[in-house]
Amino acid sequence: MNSIIHLEGIRKSYFMGKQELQVLKGIDLDIHTNEYVALMGPSGSGKSTLMNILGCLDSPSAGRYVLNGQDVSKMPDDNLADVRNKEIGFVFQQFNLLPRLTALENVALPLVYAGVSRKQRTEMAMDVIQKVGLEDRSHHKPNELSGGQCQRVAIARALVNNPSLILADEPTGNLDTKTSKEIMDIFSQIQAAGNTVVLVTHEEDIAHYAKRIVRLRDGLIESDKLKEELVGAG
Ligand code: ADP
Ligand code: MG
Repeated sequence: MNSIIHLEGIRKSYFMGKQELQVLKGIDLDIHTNEYVALMGPSGSGKSTLMNILGCLDSPSAGRYVLNGQDVSKMPDDNLADVRNKEIGFVFQQFNLLPRLTALENVALPLVYAGVSRKQRTEMAMDVIQKVGLEDRSHHKPNELSGGQCQRVAIARALVNNPSLILADEPTGNLDTKTSKEIMDIFSQIQAAGNTVVLVTHEEDIAHYAKRIVRLRDGLIESDKLKEELVGAG
């Protein structure tokens, strides 16, 4: 099997003055293409820090990260941004939509940066908006949409340039239970369509949509289990 993500001894520290805070203390992890992984752990255990490294938003302090066969651990920021734009779709708890743009314009935005023509941008954006079931809301702005609809827009935006890896950090953190389930159904469809999905959540119900659950504690992996191993394990 092919690893899309290969982490070896990943460490990350933050410095506040002279004070060093070691957040990740040596993470080894392989995620294969088309896996669906939930990352869990107590608040402050380093989930977002690890996601930011996986998403090439930040670099590790030490260790090796090979993404799709390419060592990105020591890549300069500009190159890292290129990799991020090509390979990764990010979904956040806070949606991070631009309030003055319509759903369609928000979704098409990554394509503007990629230099895609306006006509093609609209076609590609409409295509993913349909995939998340929002075609009748494409001309609405974020403040005219519900939280669940905003998260669908954010998911469509993450998908628009056809990345191989979708990273979602607490994507249902601001949503009620019913809406959370609808959003999780969309991630399941995305995975079934061939994407690799890594999702952070602190809710067990949400984590069980994934097929593998990795738990962090104190900057290390505490457990890493396929869902089959967890079923019936109490
Ligand atoms: P989680 O997502 O699991 O709640 P985080 O990765 O956000 O945890 O944070 C892990 C620890 O690192 C926390 O103690 C947090 O305060 C600290 N931290 C996170 N980001 C920074 C930063 N940019 N600068 C300094 N400390 C940070
Ligand atoms: Mg977090």
